Amino acid sequence: MTGKEAVVLAIDIGGTSLKGALVDGTGAIRGEQAVILEGRTGEAALACLENLGASLMAMAASGGLRPLAAGVIAPGVDEASGRVLFAANLGWRDLALRDRMAGHLGLPVATGHDVRTAGLAENLLGGTDNRRDFAYVMIGTGIAAALLCNGAIVSGARNMGGEFGHMPVIADGEPCGCGQLGCLEAYASAAAIARRYRTRGGAAGRSARDIALTQAEDPLAGAVWRDAIRALSLGLATVTVLLDPGAIVLGGGLAEAGTLLLDPLREALASRLTWRSPPPLRASRLGLSAGRTGAAILAFRLAGQSACIEAWDRGSSRGEPSGGA
Ligand SMILES: [Zn+2]
Repeated sequence: MTGKEAVVLAIDIGGTSLKGALVDGTGAIRGEQAVILEGRTGEAALACLENLGASLMAMAASGGLRPLAAGVIAPGVDEASGRVLFAANLGWRDLALRDRMAGHLGLPVATGHDVRTAGLAENLLGGTDNRRDFAYVMIGTGIAAALLCNGAIVSGARNMGGEFGHMPVIADGEPCGCGQLGCLEAYASAAAIARRYRTRGGAAGRSARDIALTQAEDPLAGAVWRDAIRALSLGLATVTVLLDPGAIVLGGGLAEAGTLLLDPLREALASRLTWRSPPPLRASRLGLSAGRTGAAILAFRLAGQSACIEAWDRGSSRGEPSGGA
């Protein structure tokens, strides 16, 4: 062993950007870099990823750090094979992501499904009491979930489990990008909220967060926001009665709306569940870094160093998110 301090590479591949970091054994970030894809897909997106990996390796070398392994998370990853089965925004289909990155970096590489890995991190470090039955819902441009049932992640027979955004919540409702009608994502994703506001005559360029913030004085914003809360409460009520999660945690960009989202959603969920109490509902403690933290956990586990994760900050079991709004 050299005397160099060990780190892992943690890379979060999103639909529009790549975020990479060097994470040490205490969970601290020792360097980071992000790349905006600007519409690059296919091999061009893969080249951006390889450049990011090379630049993180160079950053480690210049900082006197010793990379042990890399954790790489992306949409559509099959954990068993390390392949991206399908990632529409990246234009990747059946891509051997793990093997490609391992060859490029010269390191062992662990790959994970983006939302499931973020859910894993939130479950481990988010201060949840019951860690065996747990739902993490990521609400951003789209909506997806990581569902933990009796200690095991639900990935399904075709790796399609947890596609919460395409749960039909309104019978024969508005069309979704997936081709179905009445999907949760068609009403409650950040993109859908902005689009529904605009197509009903609202000003262009308003984000979902802007709409949440102005709902009191702008009746159209109020109506669109209420529709989103209603759709989400229907979806979460279904998850609750099916799986009885010990907690439901909301992550992704929309969860940054804090109490503007959580307060009405808690109330709506409680009012739907007449015969049972709702599970605790809270915002992600790790916020937008949940994916990156999860990628680092995968890498330390692969390197046989999972003991160090035990010492990472776990938060308070009663911890209420800062809320923002
Ligand atoms: Zn859909």
